[in-house]
Amino acid sequence: MDYDAIITGAGPAGIFAATKIAESRHSVLLLEEHKKIGEPDHCAGLLSSSGLESLNLKPPDEVIQNTVAGARIHAPSGHSIFIERGRREAFVINRREFDSWLAEKASDQGVNIITDSKVTKISRSKKGTQSIKTSSQSLQSKVVVIAEGVRSVLSKSVGFSTISKSSRLPAFQYEVKGVDIEDDLVEMFYGRQLAPGFFAWIIPLGEGQARVGLAAKSKSKIRLESALLHHPIISKRLKNAERVRGMGGTVIVGQPKSKISADGMVIVGDTAGMVKATTGGGVIIGGLTARIAGETVSEGLHANDTSRKFLSRYDKRCKSLYHRELQTMYYAQKALTSLTDKGLDSVVRDANEMGLLNIIRREGDMDLQGQVIRKLIASPRTFLLGLKAVRYINPFL
Ligand SMILES: Cc1cc2nc3c(=O)[nH]c(=O)nc-3n(C[C@H](O)[C@H](O)[C@H](O)COP(=O)(O)OP(=O)(O)OC[C@H]3O[C@@H](n4cnc5c(N)ncnc54)[C@H](O)[C@@H]3O)c2cc1C
Repeated sequence: MDYDAIITGAGPAGIFAATKIAESRHSVLLLEEHKKIGEPDHCAGLLSSSGLESLNLKPPDEVIQNTVAGARIHAPSGHSIFIERGRREAFVINRREFDSWLAEKASDQGVNIITDSKVTKISRSKKGTQSIKTSSQSLQSKVVVIAEGVRSVLSKSVGFSTISKSSRLPAFQYEVKGVDIEDDLVEMFYGRQLAPGFFAWIIPLGEGQARVGLAAKSKSKIRLESALLHHPIISKRLKNAERVRGMGGTVIVGQPKSKISADGMVIVGDTAGMVKATTGGGVIIGGLTARIAGETVSEGLHANDTSRKFLSRYDKRCKSLYHRELQTMYYAQKALTSLTDKGLDSVVRDANEMGLLNIIRREGDMDLQGQVIRKLIASPRTFLLGLKAVRYINPFL
């Protein structure tokens, strides 16, 4: 046996799982296909301060690019709502630096890391061990943690379900400088014409720099280019902007997978669907659930039992802690994106007038949004708002 556990993919989820397993003194190997951890990046880098705290992370200065205090949400008509809670709500991080900082910490905990090493095949031997083939070698381990991100090639090859096509949205964003924005405010722009199925964003990096991006059911780059030229607010904010670099990616807006363990294997992060469907954010929730995966694998290794029966404790723990939250966010996202532009205008205008923002300010949590969504749904004022908006639901969307 080469290692107790081999982790395929050194994104945040893989690194968190690897660190957790290494903490309990098991031998761990983390394999990353790219030469440098964190590269290429595709993330907007917005992480809640409470989420980082719950992961016990204090990123150093070179990782943090900015802090933000709130968000402005724009409806297609130009109406907007402003959500802030009078405190430093989130950090904007440099994902390349963040991932490589996490990897350094993992290495300090005893995780062996090999980069430039793509896993091409995972199979289970008759003896019950895992056999991992990379571009250059064959390895054996007791457990494999698949942390390959949104692509899900390996997890599909060993029998896990795939993320449906409709839950994977193409995204594109630019880093720009010379923008006219408030440096501590994230802006989100909704609209069927602008970004069907999702939204466009401007995330400030400080000193007139920003990430401006868009995800949608299709043609995200073309839609973003069009917004930069024609959207009444986005084009104004970026009138004098200079593009520094562009990057594409895939945002997940689905539900967590129901089966995330098998004999000698678990899947974590994006490939397990551990993402907030409302925003596509998966670093914090993927990290929290990957740590549970790591804990469960460690327990299995201690007990010398890495069967599906034992490892399914990971499924159960994630279900009881996070699935309700993630599912509520999924249905909220579905409801929001099924509205026509008129419906979105009506929701934003009425949310302001009906005082629903107070509930969000009081109860809101950037990561676990299910609770505030349920509180909003329980409010009689939301019922009225829902009745008004229901006529704008487009059954074909
Ligand atoms: C445009 C965009 C903006 C986003 N903005 C945010 C945001 O602001 N906040 C947030 O929380 N989330 C955001 N996300 C989502 C976030 O990037 C993901 O949820 C997160 O990166 C998932 O982490 P992961 O470890 O599961 O996967 P990844 O970060 O994708 O890491 C997977 C790793 O596995 C490696 N790998 C894949 N296959 C193999 C293989 N066969 N062998 C070896 N290595 C392999 C990959 O190279 C990669 O390094 C955004 C996503 C996109 C597309």
